[in-house]
Amino acid sequence: MKKLLPICVVLLAANSSLSCQDIKPEETEIWEPEPVLVVPGKTDREAPSDAIVLYDGSTTDAWLHADGRNVEWTPEGDALVVKAKSGSIITKDHFGSMQLHLEWRTPAVVEGESQGRGNSGVYLQGKYEVQILDSYDNRTYSNGQAGSVYKQAIPLANAMRGPGQWQTYDIIYHAPTFASDDTYETPPYVTVIHNGVVVQNHTEIKGTTEYIGAPKVAKHGDGPILLQDHRNPTAFRNIWLRKL
Ligand code: MG
Repeated sequence: MKKLLPICVVLLAANSSLSCQDIKPEETEIWEPEPVLVVPGKTDREAPSDAIVLYDGSTTDAWLHADGRNVEWTPEGDALVVKAKSGSIITKDHFGSMQLHLEWRTPAVVEGESQGRGNSGVYLQGKYEVQILDSYDNRTYSNGQAGSVYKQAIPLANAMRGPGQWQTYDIIYHAPTFASDDTYETPPYVTVIHNGVVVQNHTEIKGTTEYIGAPKVAKHGDGPILLQDHRNPTAFRNIWLRKL
């Protein structure tokens, strides 16, 4: 195997005025600031010590329906199941950039097809939907399957587990900033890891995720996380975030 030359030998060979003594390893060491201590969960699914826990099976206190009603979705063990037609739910608190973890499960008994099977969604800042869908052997439009930025960005892979199995989303989201004319100065970006597989890689979000028509851009501040009632009994558990 070819031996790598130490950098000082390379520099001397290039007639550099530097000698081995002139460059010290300490010169490229940065000691401040020291990263804060965060105690991780026992597994990567569990909330780290600095996380805001939004749902752990014990209470829906962090959530409301959009019209202010208390949450009518159905607790089942440590999960919360969409009650069809009760409406989407939003967090009481509003957020900007974040690392978000959630787990979701589409029904074990498969009903419907395409967009009608296990459809829900997680909306970042209440505006930008990362699609939740039973995309296991269920063809639909590619920019509407699980892991898509709805109607904007096709996921890089279909990483679905089967119906009735728990799926994880780990989402890294950068909130937008706005120019004086209320267009994006820097657009929102999202990375989505679905069951350990990157399906959105720093994807630019072009505006609101509309069912019909083009994305819309309007100035906004922090916003809630919204979980969608799309009339399918999709379940959620273990929802937490860390502000970035
Ligand atoms: Mg949806």
